[in-house]
Amino acid sequence: MNKEVTEFIKDKTLINGQWLEAISGKKYPVFNPATGEQIVLVPDMGQADTRLAIEKAEQAQKLWAKQTAKQRSIILKRWAQLVETHLDTLATVLTLEQGKSLAEAKGEVTSSINYIDWFANEAMRINGDVLPPSAEGNFEFVKKRAVGVVAAITPWNFPNSMIARKVAPALAAGCSVVIKPAEDTPLSALALATLGEKAGIPAGVLNVITASSGQEVGQELCSNPIVKKLSFTGSTEVGKILSRQCADTVKKLSLELGGNAPFMVFDDADLDAAVQGAVAIKFYNSGQTCICANRLLVQDGIYDAFINKLQAALSKLHLGNGLNPETTHGPLINEKAIHKVESIVKKAVDQGARVVQGGTSLPDIGKQFFNFSILADVTPEMDIFKTEIFGPVAAVYRFKSEEEVISLANSTNYGLAAYAYTEDKGRIFRLSDQMEYGMLGINTARFVSETVPFGGVKESGIGREGSVHGVDEFLEMHYVCIKN
Ligand code: ADP
Repeated sequence: MNKEVTEFIKDKTLINGQWLEAISGKKYPVFNPATGEQIVLVPDMGQADTRLAIEKAEQAQKLWAKQTAKQRSIILKRWAQLVETHLDTLATVLTLEQGKSLAEAKGEVTSSINYIDWFANEAMRINGDVLPPSAEGNFEFVKKRAVGVVAAITPWNFPNSMIARKVAPALAAGCSVVIKPAEDTPLSALALATLGEKAGIPAGVLNVITASSGQEVGQELCSNPIVKKLSFTGSTEVGKILSRQCADTVKKLSLELGGNAPFMVFDDADLDAAVQGAVAIKFYNSGQTCICANRLLVQDGIYDAFINKLQAALSKLHLGNGLNPETTHGPLINEKAIHKVESIVKKAVDQGARVVQGGTSLPDIGKQFFNFSILADVTPEMDIFKTEIFGPVAAVYRFKSEEEVISLANSTNYGLAAYAYTEDKGRIFRLSDQMEYGMLGINTARFVSETVPFGGVKESGIGREGSVHGVDEFLEMHYVCIKN
């Protein structure tokens, strides 16, 4: 490991401008999922540490919100520049703790730079309204104010960009943040915090709590009345628990939860483009994203051709340690994830699915590698239709008509991302109208950027991240009426 990477791997965490151990003195190990080796021990924090961070964040927020928008913007810009300067190092830290290929890791850190830069600009555009008077002589206006202390709980699949996408708009709005990164991947959060501190983010405005389990820290973040907002990305199951925990103190919520993305390929599609899209979005991050294609719904006439081409495309990918230059795809995050994907595949096969390729883990490469897999003859009656796979398994369903596939695609409690490949213009408009999803890609599968309002409907979440709407999640309106 080169010296700069070592310098960014922290064994303490940042609270109120100080790099601290847990009050209890406890630590827990972070592992490299490609090799199983321990990278470092980090503080294993609990309720007392969380409470301390929240209290310090409250003090710091008052001063941070008083700074001008321009001052906050300049600091965020500096943060983005520092992340850019250290892009390669942050990507290496990300690959070490998460497993994804270095190319994907660089893409992720680049998106963090874009988010921070975008919200540095948005900080300058937080305007209010002057209203037409509701009575003669009144002066009425609406100010937008920072909500206050924000709790951010983030997942392990994008340990770098999920921090940027939450912290940058919060800071732009004038909030302070207590971050609880996922237990498997705290190092990217700590590396970003290091650079945030260097960029001039004041002590207490950005705090990180590392912990081997989310429960105790989450309980404090959700029940403490000082925290005014929770921004969470993770599973729908945990999102529901956190919403309940936040109810007693009526916190503002942003929830980015699970998905069950349909990927529809019609007979008239450009088949090569569809296959390319399927590879890109099904196998992105080894299938471990909430917008990964979860159900590949392919029309009867091209079903076999699609599977043949998909198989050919997969033969060009390389599974391995993300640090190797030839690796395109890395391991799954932990052994639990391997067992989960194994059991999903087994159940589908027991229920009648056919393994075209893969379907098993690859212990010869490492304990946490799962083969690129294709399951054919999958039907909506099987359990896999309702399950978020979170692994490199393409489940391919067959459909006959447009009406049938729209109904199938929408028959889920989730509503995050959907994809369709077709050349029929009328159908494109019908899909735009009828798909019950927060985001729809037509003839494209990779569209997420800082300009996009990322988020879902139904049980996929509440609120949007990124775009011109992203900063609103961290603001509240304050109406004033002055009687003359
Ligand atoms: P995944 O299934 O993708 O691991 P989770 O929803 O379990 O997603 O985890 C996402 C984040 O939520 C992680 O930071 C994790 O530590 C945290 N988390 C999990 N369970 C809880 C909980 N009960 N309370 C608070 N945070 C939690």
